[in-house]
Amino acid sequence: MRLILLGAPGAGKGTQAVHLAKYFKIPHISTGDIFRANLKAGTPLGVQAQSFMDRGELVADSVTNEMVKDRLTHDDVAHGFLLDGFPRNVAQAEVLRAILAEKKTPLHAVLEFSLANEEIVARLSSRRTCKDCFQPSVGVDKCPSCGGDVYQREDDKAEVIARRLEVYQEQTAPIISFYRNEGLLISVSAAGNVEDITASAISALSRVAQ
Ligand code: AMP
Repeated sequence: MRLILLGAPGAGKGTQAVHLAKYFKIPHISTGDIFRANLKAGTPLGVQAQSFMDRGELVADSVTNEMVKDRLTHDDVAHGFLLDGFPRNVAQAEVLRAILAEKKTPLHAVLEFSLANEEIVARLSSRRTCKDCFQPSVGVDKCPSCGGDVYQREDDKAEVIARRLEVYQEQTAPIISFYRNEGLLISVSAAGNVEDITASAISALSRVAQ
């Protein structure tokens, strides 16, 4: 299964990605997590990305596209992958289409999680992120997945949330119609509890030919 998860920041992509990747036995590739891991390790890529991330802006396409292109050469994508946070604009979607066309491994589906704006803001402001594995969580002191310490991301603070939602509307939302036109789009409501949303996503994806 070659899959993309789409949705505004806070719609629950990261949480659902973990469950869906496990279910379909495919690697979860989150560009945000790759940037955060580089930031933590102090690599040049992390240093380059930090100021964009802290302001809620997109990192330059040239940097992000190269990073994804490289990631898609790893052996673990042989049986599919789940992309979370990429593409984030139409130019990136076109680059991805070209990379996959060259490898003759087109996408099977693009799953969009939709959620009302007020709910998104509420979720983002209460969200914490694991310092070690970056998994998001709410209302806990330790990461439910690996037990690591959790923190509030710089870009989950109120002033940056507003900018991230604007960037989503202006730059990322147009790829919804891009993928609808390609016949790949599946929309699922992101309201409700995590298990029910995962179940509707799996049920929608089970109708997709692989
Ligand atoms: P996320 O964890 O997906 O919310 O991403 C956190 C931040 O990483 C974003 O606000 C951007 O600054 C950066 N980022 C992640 N994915 C991309 C992408 N596909 N293109 C550009 N910047 C990205």
